[in-house]
Amino acid sequence: MSSDGVLLTAAHVTKHFPAGKRRVLRAVDDVSLEIARGETLGLVGESGCGKTTLGKLLCLLEEPTRGEIWLDGTDLLHIPPNELRELRPRLQMIFQDPFASLNPHKTIEQIVGLPLRIKSLRGKARIRERVHELLGMVGLDPSQSGRFPHQFSGGQRQRIGIARALACEPELIIADEPVASLDVSIQAQILQVLRDLQARFHLAAIFISHDISVVSHVSQRIAVMYLGRVVELGPAQDVIYDPKHPYTRALLSAVPRVGEAQPEATLLPGDIPSPIAVPRGCRFHTRCYLEQVTECGTGEPGLREVANGHFAACHLARSKAAES
Ligand code: SF4
Repeated sequence: MSSDGVLLTAAHVTKHFPAGKRRVLRAVDDVSLEIARGETLGLVGESGCGKTTLGKLLCLLEEPTRGEIWLDGTDLLHIPPNELRELRPRLQMIFQDPFASLNPHKTIEQIVGLPLRIKSLRGKARIRERVHELLGMVGLDPSQSGRFPHQFSGGQRQRIGIARALACEPELIIADEPVASLDVSIQAQILQVLRDLQARFHLAAIFISHDISVVSHVSQRIAVMYLGRVVELGPAQDVIYDPKHPYTRALLSAVPRVGEAQPEATLLPGDIPSPIAVPRGCRFHTRCYLEQVTECGTGEPGLREVANGHFAACHLARSKAAES
């Protein structure tokens, strides 16, 4: 965790959805995290693991079933609506599908200008000037602000989404698979835009992806999610080069290596279980390839620190000191 001061704290955040016949879909289960100012936290896991729901919860687009979310010392879930309206722009989300997230009937000037109006910026000329400034920041030609979303490429639309998020002058951006739908060459450009803006405005970011290699390039810390829970959390280099949870090791074994020997991929048996029927004990035990101990099937392991700032939820995770 950066010493730069905690910006956002999530404590025991849980989101359960009713799934009929008194069943419950446990999308997010008791997640606790902290994000420092200016920090990028990568949130990674297979599709369906709850990472998008967690992103929406932290951005207040969904209401948690339980738990607390604090922004800069303010309990966001227990403040009056008018105070929440004031604070909300400080948290912004960038969505996976840039086309679906932009109103096709509005021009780019209207789309990026809307948050400025909400922030009480008045006067058409001033709004236009600011929109042009924001478009320039994300590498778009401001003279195209009168065009509609369908007149732009996928990468340009994602830049528009970033400009719209920046219009609110956020302190935390939650980017949900922001490059997943883009060509590889464009992905690198968008990642660079995000990195540059983060550095320029000292923005914190939660970068959500199913691809641990993408996350490792942009994050200072990485949280690995499995079936609604964080099972590993730590500095990016430690998680990548010394993973402590067998699920993280399996994810990493599937990443293609350039210029080094490719380890044999660890194939996990079966699919990720349904969040309506989360296995008892360790929720990973139905797919775990380690020789399990009795507790694996009976007690859910909590996150515990196995190295400095590096946490894993596995009964068998050992610290370096314990291994030597
Ligand atoms: Fe595997 Fe047991 Fe660790 Fe779960 S607690 S990951 S089942 S070894």
